[in-house]
Amino acid sequence: MIKIFCPDECLGSLFDVDLDELWQKGYRGIILDIDNTLLPWASDTLDQDTIIWVKRAREMGFRLCLTSNALRERVEKIAAALDVPAVASAIKPRKKPFRQALRLLQTQPRETVVIGDQMFTDILGGNRMALYTILIDPVAAEELKATKVMRLIERRIIRRLSRKGNISESAARRRLAKSKG
Ligand SMILES: [Mg+2]
Repeated sequence: MIKIFCPDECLGSLFDVDLDELWQKGYRGIILDIDNTLLPWASDTLDQDTIIWVKRAREMGFRLCLTSNALRERVEKIAAALDVPAVASAIKPRKKPFRQALRLLQTQPRETVVIGDQMFTDILGGNRMALYTILIDPVAAEELKATKVMRLIERRIIRRLSRKGNISESAARRRLAKSKG
């Protein structure tokens, strides 16, 4: 049961994602979360490294799509800045926004990766759709109050997954240290 929350990889940031390896393994589509994955929740400016990362992924041949539970206006602004399609007001972990994203990407679930900072939206939703899921540490500590509450439960699950050997001890330790409220 707890396995449904378990990411395939647990990394520090977007920049730790091994795009070459993903490509070699046959992945062609990447669904990206926005808030605290691409930029801080409280910011609307993408940093240069993130823009370059997205550009490089596209140059490699990956198709990218943003999905965010945030409101349309914010999502469209970020999508326009990166020149990628987006699904806004997504209500992850529901399956619908992931299906919409797959349609935009024109990829199959087995060749699609989802990258996000939240276990209960990005990872749960991705796992429900049988996508390859990558959990990254949130880029900033600031977030919605409701998210902070979810983080407490998330921490407990991360500890359990680590004890069971599903998440490496070092990844769990790093994440728990960073997500301390
Ligand atoms: Mg997020």
